[in-house]
Amino acid sequence: MDMVYNVENVFAKIIRGDIPCEKVYEDEFTLAFHDINPRAPVHVVVIPKGSYVSFADFSANGSPEEIYNFFQSVGKIAEELNLLKGGYRILANHGQHAGQEVPHFHMHIFAGRHLGPMLVPVE
Ligand code: 5GP
Repeated sequence: MDMVYNVENVFAKIIRGDIPCEKVYEDEFTLAFHDINPRAPVHVVVIPKGSYVSFADFSANGSPEEIYNFFQSVGKIAEELNLLKGGYRILANHGQHAGQEVPHFHMHIFAGRHLGPMLVPVE
């Protein structure tokens, strides 16, 4: 996938406030909001505010502070949304085979019902 960060991607616009989002959480490094096309009763997208194209980019080039804050925030959001008892799934798509649509690193949090198998088994 293109490793050059495109400032016109939809999540960059949300960070800048150019387009609205239904915010769930925000701190200095991290923003989270409800997915516009939810795949579960709870479907939250968590993003770093820094300009990282993908998980590979973020894990390689994010500062320790950004990476620590991001993962701690994911846990905090799940707790604040009361997802610990029922359970939840976190997922990040990187690149073509995973079907990453938005080229700004993000992690999905899914919850609110039984989420089914992780993937369709390999035949
Ligand atoms: P990906 O397939 O890249 O892992 O996931 C991108 C997600 O971003 C999709 O679940 C999609 O519904 C969500 N999304 C795309 N555009 C917007 C938007 O403008 N607002 C919000 N809240 N979510 C969006």
